[in-house]
Amino acid sequence: MDAAFQQCIDPDCNATFSIGEVHISCPTCAVAGKNSLLDIRYHWDQLEHTPKSFGLFERRWMTKGEQGSGTLDFSGVWRFRELMPFYRTEDDIVSIGEGRTNLQCANLLAGKIGFKPGNLYLQYEGLNPSGSFKDNGMAAAFTHARMVGAKCVACASTGNTSASLAMFASLSEMLGIVFIGSGKIAYGKLSQALDYGARTLQVQGDFDACLRRVRQITTENKELGIYLMNSVNPFRLEGQKAIMYRVLEAMDWQPPDWIVVPGGNLGNCSAFGKAFTELKELGLISRIPRLAVIQAAGANPLYQLFTEQGVRWDDGRPDTSKIDALYNKMNAESYHANTIASAIEIGRPVNLVKSLRALDLMDGVVREVDDQTILEHKAMVGRYGFGCEPASAASVAGAHMLIDEGILSPSDRVVCILTGHELKDPDATVKYHTGIDVKAIQDQAPRSTPHGQLANEPIAVPDDLDAIIKAIGATP
Ligand SMILES: *Cc1c(COP(=O)(O)O)cnc(C)c1O
Ligand SMILES: [Zn+2]
Repeated sequence: MDAAFQQCIDPDCNATFSIGEVHISCPTCAVAGKNSLLDIRYHWDQLEHTPKSFGLFERRWMTKGEQGSGTLDFSGVWRFRELMPFYRTEDDIVSIGEGRTNLQCANLLAGKIGFKPGNLYLQYEGLNPSGSFKDNGMAAAFTHARMVGAKCVACASTGNTSASLAMFASLSEMLGIVFIGSGKIAYGKLSQALDYGARTLQVQGDFDACLRRVRQITTENKELGIYLMNSVNPFRLEGQKAIMYRVLEAMDWQPPDWIVVPGGNLGNCSAFGKAFTELKELGLISRIPRLAVIQAAGANPLYQLFTEQGVRWDDGRPDTSKIDALYNKMNAESYHANTIASAIEIGRPVNLVKSLRALDLMDGVVREVDDQTILEHKAMVGRYGFGCEPASAASVAGAHMLIDEGILSPSDRVVCILTGHELKDPDATVKYHTGIDVKAIQDQAPRSTPHGQLANEPIAVPDDLDAIIKAIGATP
């Protein structure tokens, strides 16, 4: 067995697969009609460079990038590469200087929401090259895509995944295909996908419909040779572990008391749990922070299942009947997630079970916050910090709610993850401050034929598999 491998997270299966294989769920469980997620695992004792202390990473971030491409030490992901050693050689690694982000001690904001000075921190993942934390995961998943020789990559997206995929695809000389639902995408994000040259399919459906279609074209239509970049891809989560490494690094390797993160597809919180599991396995930390996952009230399946119905990880055997019942109810009622925080507007999160595992490990809580509360906290982050997009502010709104409940104490050291940049969704900000709905004006505005030489218009398609494959035009 290789030192790095893939493994099914279902304890009744535990099947393992080599790193060179491409799966987005466990093929062994699929035979039994089950849909189980995979993990990337390591036999740490068989690795040449297993970290024995954090000293290995000390000051690597001071290294200057070479020729604008960035060395591995310059990357905020790959400077921790010994903690995600699934690549064969360093030549496999894809990097564009992702993850050079900032942990700010936010005393003004702390005062407004009830923390003592020195205790509230904001982790600005909006400072990534494409403006959201998604770049952390894409650096890792594109590394794997390159290892397996992928030429074409795809994702469904509420916006930031497509922006990040489009950027990495164009730099890796792969064809990027992004599926965006009709309607809610923030223009900052759409503009990135178009500008980086991704083939952009605007499917008549929501995010969940787009994800269903992308899974079909990548798994049931394998002959198309399209590699899936959504966070069901376990390699994405390997890269996203680095967000926690950077938080620890900025805090001199002393774990905070709480990590607060918005939850959409639940990949980020799952990655955080995995990061701490492994740091503990390696003996690098002795204490694990607690976790708060904050959902929007209009997209709250984890809140309903975990907080209201008490569904737990239960050693890998969560009560799937409750999960199925919720999704059946959503189908019966034609429920569609609906929130101003478009990045977390997701009804059926793919990493739900992994998030239960993270909540178990990190003694977590889940809360929901409504759109108005999100917008008020977004405005506070803007006024007293660097600003963020609506979904990101859910973390601060959640921290505020938890301090009011007495679950967080004013003297706890709390890190809120600000997942995306303020400029991702300027329309939401303008509407908050002026009442003007820029997006409504844009949608009604007369359109001329695009005339730029590189004009890359979204392709409107019905939610129909044949029409989608035709629109992709990616013949094998
Ligand atoms: C993707 C995204 C999220 C949600 O992260 P998950 O890993 O899907 O839970 C939150 N905020 C922003 C800005 C995002 O782009
Ligand atoms: Zn399995």
